[in-house]
Amino acid sequence: MSTMLERRVSVASKFQDDRYYMVFHAYFDVLAQVHSVVETKNGSWTLRVWRAQKFGPEASKEKREMNLFHVTENTFKCYIVPPDPRIGKAVEESGKEFLIEIDVYDDHRIGIEKLNSGDFVALQNVHAASVGLTEMQVLHGGGQAYNRGISKVPVDFRNEAFQIFKKRVESVLEAVTDCDNFIEFQQKENVVQSETSTQTSSSNTSGDADLKHCQQIKIGEDISVDYFLKKSGSRYNFLTHAHSDHYRGLDKKWTRSVYCSPETAKLLPHIMGYTADSPPPAGLINPLEENVPHKFDSFQVTLVNANHCPGAVMFVFEGSKIEEIAGGAVLCTGDFRADKMFLESLKPGNQLHWMTEIKFGIIYLDNTYFSLDMPFPERCEAEKILLKAIEAHPHENIVIPLHRLGREELIQAISRILNEPIMVYDERKVISDLLDFSSNCGVLKQYRDIKVIKKGSYCEISQNSVIIDISMLYYTFGNGVNDDEGIIRIPYSDHSSRSEILKFLSHFHFKTITPCTKKYSIIELASLENAGKRSEEDHTVEKTQSTIQGTPISQLQEDPLPPGVVFRTNTCDFMDMDLDNWPEGPPKTFAEAIARANNSRRPRNPGL
Ligand SMILES: [Zn+2]
Repeated sequence: MSTMLERRVSVASKFQDDRYYMVFHAYFDVLAQVHSVVETKNGSWTLRVWRAQKFGPEASKEKREMNLFHVTENTFKCYIVPPDPRIGKAVEESGKEFLIEIDVYDDHRIGIEKLNSGDFVALQNVHAASVGLTEMQVLHGGGQAYNRGISKVPVDFRNEAFQIFKKRVESVLEAVTDCDNFIEFQQKENVVQSETSTQTSSSNTSGDADLKHCQQIKIGEDISVDYFLKKSGSRYNFLTHAHSDHYRGLDKKWTRSVYCSPETAKLLPHIMGYTADSPPPAGLINPLEENVPHKFDSFQVTLVNANHCPGAVMFVFEGSKIEEIAGGAVLCTGDFRADKMFLESLKPGNQLHWMTEIKFGIIYLDNTYFSLDMPFPERCEAEKILLKAIEAHPHENIVIPLHRLGREELIQAISRILNEPIMVYDERKVISDLLDFSSNCGVLKQYRDIKVIKKGSYCEISQNSVIIDISMLYYTFGNGVNDDEGIIRIPYSDHSSRSEILKFLSHFHFKTITPCTKKYSIIELASLENAGKRSEEDHTVEKTQSTIQGTPISQLQEDPLPPGVVFRTNTCDFMDMDLDNWPEGPPKTFAEAIARANNSRRPRNPGL
């Protein structure tokens, strides 16, 4: 049986230098020597390696290199592993085209700071990806799928291909002279390098463990968000938006009041199965105006446009009852896109700045794309790419698969700009009409049509058609989406990218984050929870939380559990806000929380 290192070196040594610039949108393995590891100002960790030779093919060189290198004087924050002067000088003299920069995320950062410049490494499952002009290579977070990872290769490792590679690198380095004064980037003295290093290195191997996201948002006994199952028992039921994964359970059998945005309220009767002849009972659907607080008996709620699909909102819950339950206010983001415009609105003097002044106990967060480490184009850029794609096929039918709600503005704008009607399938047209969107501009062309078909119903596609997919699905790692020939991919997202989520959180004071859309790792959670604004109070809680992991249980026995702290350990799933379901009520001490969390599968009955 070969070891993991043997297997990894064996596949990594098959790397073909002359095909390197052709591997974009593919996953590759590579054997290399460490040049350095850099933390950039936006928080990326970039492992920079080299192979002591240039890459090919020559024809792709200029285009690739222009968009490929992201560590510059402007983006550099600090070295996590500084370059050995001889290797640094070799690359300086040869040019950046000798370097490979790989952004390393989450669990793969563990131990990376212990590497030295000059170490040999075998990397598996590096994603070469591009969006617009940005090209990057990424070791994605979220586990060891497809053997993804980095291994240090000992210099005496017995593998013929490795030894040949090592000799080649060493002979190039021997020729380098006069390298003692090599300086690449000036490192500022006051950079706190350990802040992120300790954060990740203190985590253990359970970093890639899947933690389950919260699918039932319940705040105390009376408030539910996007949770419409009878057993929720809440008096106040809020809906962030009308996508089916959020309104599950809302049908004609539902009798309790639902609160939502005015636009969502226009859609709800149709979604719940009511018609003009049998309208919903009065008081069932309650639209709440956005951006003004609405008082309820023991709390208030403010709706904020979530920049996702028409009618999508975030909820800000405030009031003494909420603070008692959550240790601060509660933000439910629902699905949201924190693009440039949204982030701008959080700045001082702008419309949503008030949110950043609130002390949140919990943020329930849309983490859909947090594990996908690439920039998303702004939606106006995606619109331009889409227009170009359509214009490039003037004589072919254009087919755009979409769900029944979402991208209305985009489709309307495209129809207006092209002055050409875009047919929409019936189910979607009902929704678009209710929201007053129309894509019926201009007149039909003789020689082709543009239509939106139901996602997944490819059987409707006629000959001489071009399919345009407007989503990030193709770019999502590991979801089984194939690069089907003939499909044009427009990178468009109504959810935030990883860096947008981090920028969004950097505006807020909060104690804990509860991801709501995707499974996540402990390290991803640490990245999220450390992205927020700092205050004295936050430090206290953070300190308490970080103490849990390294402290013997006996020392925690009598410490009271601060209100609003969601308890997690590395060895167990977290205890979610479903604490009310425990017959004995929420835990009062750390010891009790640990006991419950470690034994979370026991029957929920104190008598057993
Ligand atoms: Zn949605």
